[in-house]
Amino acid sequence: MADACVFCDIIAGRIPTEFVYEDDDVVAFSDIRPIAPTHLLVVPREHHSTLADTVSTREGPELLGRLLKVAGELGAARAEKDGGYRVVVNNGAAAGQTVYHLHVHVLSGRHFAWPPG
Ligand code: 5GP
Ligand code: ZN
Repeated sequence: MADACVFCDIIAGRIPTEFVYEDDDVVAFSDIRPIAPTHLLVVPREHHSTLADTVSTREGPELLGRLLKVAGELGAARAEKDGGYRVVVNNGAAAGQTVYHLHVHVLSGRHFAWPPG
């Protein structure tokens, strides 16, 4: 757990948040400021600041696989009606990361342009 981490607060129950998915290692919940009709965040219970920090740890590859599996399952469940979904990890300030607790965005319900802004 990290000091002053909003996602650690959510995971610990200090900020009441409904989980759309949870297991021993991973939770998922709706983004508080959605940028698409479906906008979920898939988050490890354990605090890792960034993707870059996570890949270099021993458990990193397995954890990242689990996060992507949950993201893919949640995306697929919604893609049936939405027709597709996008999975995003912002790594670092220049890429738009604002919360420094690793998370995977799952977005669907509208068309997504490429390249992203
Ligand atoms: P990032 O910009 O770091 O990739 O994404 C962080 C996301 O966390 C943002 O989309 C932001 O809206 C979301 N977020 C920040 N604080 C909270 C919160 O307290 N609750 C929820 N559900 N989402 C949050
Ligand atoms: Zn945290």
